[in-house]
Amino acid sequence: MGRVYPKAVYEVKERVDRAINDNLYFYLQQIDQLEDPFVHVNGKKMLMLASYSYLSLLQHPEINKKAKEAIDKFGTGTHGVRILAGTEPLHNELEHTIARFKKRDASVVFSSGYVANLTTISSLFHKGDAVICDKYDHASIVDGCLLSGADFLRFNHNSLIDLERILKKSEAYRHRCIIIDSVYSMDGDIAPLPEIVDLAKKYKAMLYVDEAHSMGVLGENGTGIEEYFNMEGAVDILMGTMSKVLPAIGGYVAGDKELINFLKHPSRAFVFSAALPPPVTAAAIAFFEVLEKEKWRIKKLNDNIHYFIRRLNEEGFNTLQSQTAIIPLIIGEEEKTMKTTQYLQNKDIFVLPVLPPAVPPNTARLRMNVSASMEKEHLDFVIQSLVEAKKIFNI
Ligand SMILES: *Cc1c(COP(=O)(O)O)cnc(C)c1O
Repeated sequence: MGRVYPKAVYEVKERVDRAINDNLYFYLQQIDQLEDPFVHVNGKKMLMLASYSYLSLLQHPEINKKAKEAIDKFGTGTHGVRILAGTEPLHNELEHTIARFKKRDASVVFSSGYVANLTTISSLFHKGDAVICDKYDHASIVDGCLLSGADFLRFNHNSLIDLERILKKSEAYRHRCIIIDSVYSMDGDIAPLPEIVDLAKKYKAMLYVDEAHSMGVLGENGTGIEEYFNMEGAVDILMGTMSKVLPAIGGYVAGDKELINFLKHPSRAFVFSAALPPPVTAAAIAFFEVLEKEKWRIKKLNDNIHYFIRRLNEEGFNTLQSQTAIIPLIIGEEEKTMKTTQYLQNKDIFVLPVLPPAVPPNTARLRMNVSASMEKEHLDFVIQSLVEAKKIFNI
């Protein structure tokens, strides 16, 4: 009582209270139990369309087993940072495994993808440099750029013309780096890598790619955007997360020996933040073993993606340019989007809305993620429910 916080605290409270009052508060719903592709929420079994577990590997028995063995051998935590007592054989094994998978000399792991972007960008670039980002780049890239002190230049989403315009006028900078997502997390579209690589070469800029949503999704082996475009080795710095398709947590950067050696020295998240816990590290290693043995998951995921997008488009829904497991369904108006969400949730479909300012004005949407464990009948049920909602709410 009597404490006074910054004004934003009360503004958020007001917004949340209003949404709860209107029964339109879909934030932080508790998932009580997993039953892939379903989840149990509030005593209801719902089809899960909001998970990043694209290959349905959360709870995979082999991955769980490796994580449990790691606890028995090394315990549940690390004893500090990697450079003190924190480096275990598991960390080195994971970094070798990632480097092999991404066909690079080496890799380094951090405690999250967010931290990996923050520390890598801010360690490499400084005042006098330019970081050149797609306007839809992930928040962790934006934060890394702001922290770096480099000039933060942005080009329109996936626009090669705008990128070239910025490259032309930024030749005076000491270093330039183009930073993109491989797959954009709100739209599900893929970056035009071949053309961006050409521009990077032409204007002597480095290229940094965040692969959070392409690992396990793009390429026959699921290695990501370079495999998808058949351009192995084209990207200078490959970053990714271990919290999405990979059922663990942590971020990684893969690249040349010099780059990774550098990141293991001055990068502040490596030096000042604790090493990944053993069960998480072991689970990440096991993920790569399982993926190698169960490639059918990648194929099935992509079959589901293509089926779902094709059927939605046949029913007249706008899914932008998505070709990946993130499938936006543009509704436009916020209220219709909230009502459609509620309608689907009442049909036991766990789907969530994305509203401005997270996306551009008038593009409020449902964002649906498909996974390898879904069958056509699950997807058909979602489509049928959406067709009903379309009639009721005049979408
Ligand atoms: C999720 C995400 C991150 C952050 O990864 P975490 O491991 O969850 O911190 C970074 N970049 C993109 C594009 C993401 O979607």
